[in-house]
Amino acid sequence: MSMRFVDEYREPGGIAKLSAEIERLAKGRQVKLMEVCGGHTHAIYKHGLQDLLPENVELVHGPGCPVCVIPMGRIDDAIAIAHMPGVIFATYGDMMRVPSSTGSLIDAKADGADVRFIYSPLDALTLARKNPDREVVFFAVGFETTAPSTAATLLRARDEGLKNFSVFCNHVTIIPAIKAILDSPGMSLDGFVGPGHVATIIGVRPFDFIPREYGLPIAITGFEPSDILQSVVMLLRQLTDGPVRVENQYARVVRDDGNRRALEILAETMQLRPFFEWRGLGFISQSALAIRPEFAQFDAEARFAVPNVRVTDPKACQCGEVLKGAIKPWQCKVFGNACTPETPIGSCMVSPEGACAAYYNYGRYSLMRRGVASVQAAGVP
Ligand code: SF4
Repeated sequence: MSMRFVDEYREPGGIAKLSAEIERLAKGRQVKLMEVCGGHTHAIYKHGLQDLLPENVELVHGPGCPVCVIPMGRIDDAIAIAHMPGVIFATYGDMMRVPSSTGSLIDAKADGADVRFIYSPLDALTLARKNPDREVVFFAVGFETTAPSTAATLLRARDEGLKNFSVFCNHVTIIPAIKAILDSPGMSLDGFVGPGHVATIIGVRPFDFIPREYGLPIAITGFEPSDILQSVVMLLRQLTDGPVRVENQYARVVRDDGNRRALEILAETMQLRPFFEWRGLGFISQSALAIRPEFAQFDAEARFAVPNVRVTDPKACQCGEVLKGAIKPWQCKVFGNACTPETPIGSCMVSPEGACAAYYNYGRYSLMRRGVASVQAAGVP
């Protein structure tokens, strides 16, 4: 049956059937599935889906929150650019609160830097048109999902001949990060709830290596409760009956080949960096995008003396382990006490897609009910 309205993806009877089917298929086995995308982590805790799974089916969170994986040094670099004379630094709201070694972009704004909060890269272009005597720099962050909008903005800036607009490019690509996780020592997973938003752009085929090289199932997944539970059913059926493969649960949006036009403009404006540092995962080769030399006049790293800061995370911060799925957010020693959405120590507590923020905002209520001591100690304000 095709569904048209969001309520239909949340209909209690259908959800209960999927939950019962998961319990039946998982009987007698311990299953650990990773949801790669921060949007899924958010949906799982917002809708209480963890409580609908049997205890032997565990969902662990992956590296798919773009705000969370940017290392502290790149935020230091962003703050250094924002403080340069004549610069208007344009950024999405959640990036303003991510801590660096010297504070956040909000602190930089308080210190006099002209940091503006925008909703779209096109807002940064508008700022550039309105302020021809200033240098407008857009802080580009995100996976393949958002990179095409940066690419379209670069093309428009070129077509308009803008001379005072550039991009500090921090776009990352999901496939090398998944490979890095699969190759991590001691990592043991039974399958993936695949990233529906990224797959909308890159398609289904780039995920073929997961069953082919690692023998694990993956289901590209939508973001409603029934989508996520249906994907868990698909993964359990693959594990039970085989063969393991890439399944497309989100076929109402994701095509096998992705979005060709988006991929074309990405290829026209950006190229792979030889390597890029990820918070918690270290340097991963060919895992991020840089602006092509043909667009160097719009590349902030070519136009400004970016300091290229490298810093290690604060000792108390365990975001790296959270991003690899090695620990749950509430297992971090500072979760809910020193580190909250109001006073974030790590990036995973900043973005709504961050696993720590999702747990803090929604998941801790069910953890408290289950009697998890560290969460009970942190309390619920
Ligand atoms: S609780 Fe804070 S410091 Fe700990 S992992 Fe989460 S975001 Fe990082």
